[in-house]
Amino acid sequence: MTEFRGKPVFSGIAIGKIAILKKDDQSVKRTHVEDTAGELARVTEAKEKALGQLKALYEKAVKEVGESGAMIFDVHQMMLEDQDYLDSITNMIETQNINAEYAVAVTGDNFAKMFAEMDDDYMKARAADVKDISERLIRVLQGGDGEELETEEATIVVADDLAPSETVQMDKSKVLAFVTRYGSSNSHTAILARTMNIPALIGGKVAVVDGFEGKLIVDPEEEMLEAYRNRYEQEVEKRKLLQELKGKENVTKSGKKINIYANIGKVSDVANVLQNAAGGIGLFRSEFLYLEKDTFPTEEEQYQAYKQVAETMAGKKVIIRTLDIGADKQADYFGLDHEENPAMGYRAIRICLSQPDIFKTQLRALFRASIFGTISIMYPMIISVKEVRQIKEIVEEVKKELREEEIPFADVEQGIMIETPAAAMISDLLAKEVDFFSIGTNDLTQYTLAIDRQNAKLDPIYDSHHEAILRMIKMVVDNAHKEGIWAGICGELGADTTLTEEFVKMGVDELSVTPTFVLPVRKIVREME
Ligand code: PEP
Ligand code: MG
Repeated sequence: MTEFRGKPVFSGIAIGKIAILKKDDQSVKRTHVEDTAGELARVTEAKEKALGQLKALYEKAVKEVGESGAMIFDVHQMMLEDQDYLDSITNMIETQNINAEYAVAVTGDNFAKMFAEMDDDYMKARAADVKDISERLIRVLQGGDGEELETEEATIVVADDLAPSETVQMDKSKVLAFVTRYGSSNSHTAILARTMNIPALIGGKVAVVDGFEGKLIVDPEEEMLEAYRNRYEQEVEKRKLLQELKGKENVTKSGKKINIYANIGKVSDVANVLQNAAGGIGLFRSEFLYLEKDTFPTEEEQYQAYKQVAETMAGKKVIIRTLDIGADKQADYFGLDHEENPAMGYRAIRICLSQPDIFKTQLRALFRASIFGTISIMYPMIISVKEVRQIKEIVEEVKKELREEEIPFADVEQGIMIETPAAAMISDLLAKEVDFFSIGTNDLTQYTLAIDRQNAKLDPIYDSHHEAILRMIKMVVDNAHKEGIWAGICGELGADTTLTEEFVKMGVDELSVTPTFVLPVRKIVREME
């Protein structure tokens, strides 16, 4: 038996066979060829086959996870048709009389190195993509089918790293757990894994992923396996018992109530929200609508998405956060400059206020959708009263335009995220300006503790239980109540059941959590005095 340890990202037990998502180098031999024209024809044929595979993958992914998850296959198709890339392969075959596989492998390595050395983080990330397409091309040339992971049964997926798009596009029914070498527990990939409700932490061996203790145990002894099987059964039983809490109130024994809402990133997540009986949606990360496109989503596209969520939630509160693009969430078409420190850079509301056209399009869509349910709008990354007033002016302009066009809209509750230390410290002033606060503990922790949430090395000291964070939360809640507005938590800390009691005592009005945490949090609340 071998035991590996890692950082737990999502609790749970998974038992099953391991499937390695292979991204390692293929061994390709250099051989001399006389018939270079024949070799070039092989490349063309393989390229067409690989394009067909990517197209099919794209279509499958669109159906399963929407355009954001599928986009990676679109990018790969474009890269595979890149003239510079194809010219390099052709040139090597013609001038060096070498076999197609070797020309593709060398070209892939050269291009990957070139990308990896670029300053721009987006371009750097393309190194992995060019490697990917070259490996696919080589697999096809070698007569393989070009697929990395094909299993009949559900498996534990082990990989060096997983991009958010890769995580989303996986067939959920075939994945028991993720185990990756890189990545931090507060990255968006980890958040997606939690959203998919999959425990996240080598072939045919049985392994156990212990998402509670952060362990991967390969080939466990029969006794240990049996213990884990029992534990797994208990977990299933616990989940079943939690189902009985559906339809029950979030109320303590002494009668104190709290709202428990859910966080979503895309329209289809609403199914998970309903399944877990959340009282509403406390954070719809609208930037994912932008990330799944290769150009700005139109007002109409956004309107349809917001309308669908509002309608499906049937009158329950839906808090939609305006665009929080930048930092780790990059969309090429925004044309954002490379920044030394993107987490503290040109992002979120800063982009919206300096490019009001982008902001207004989203606001129009949100107000238009507001008549189909109970939509609230929330603004991210606020640091000043001035920003809030600027937002209000733009909102008034949008409302005026809609009235002039005789387009109906509802009275929309508007709030801000408290996710910068500045906003927490002036929350008394900000509370006079808005209808509610939602505390974004992920960023609030990163900025308060000066710890990049993306930096896995710093995971051990990313302490969201730090007294500074807890004091800020209390201060924000008190300041909200003094002005008669409500305050909730929508960062990952809201789902930390070891703090639920403390949050209720502080007077937090709402906790917005990953859908699967709704019932566990409800359980704690109902067991409290
Ligand atoms: C947060 O910062 O706590 C938050 C909820 O927003 P995001 O994780 O999308 O930055
Ligand atoms: Mg944030």
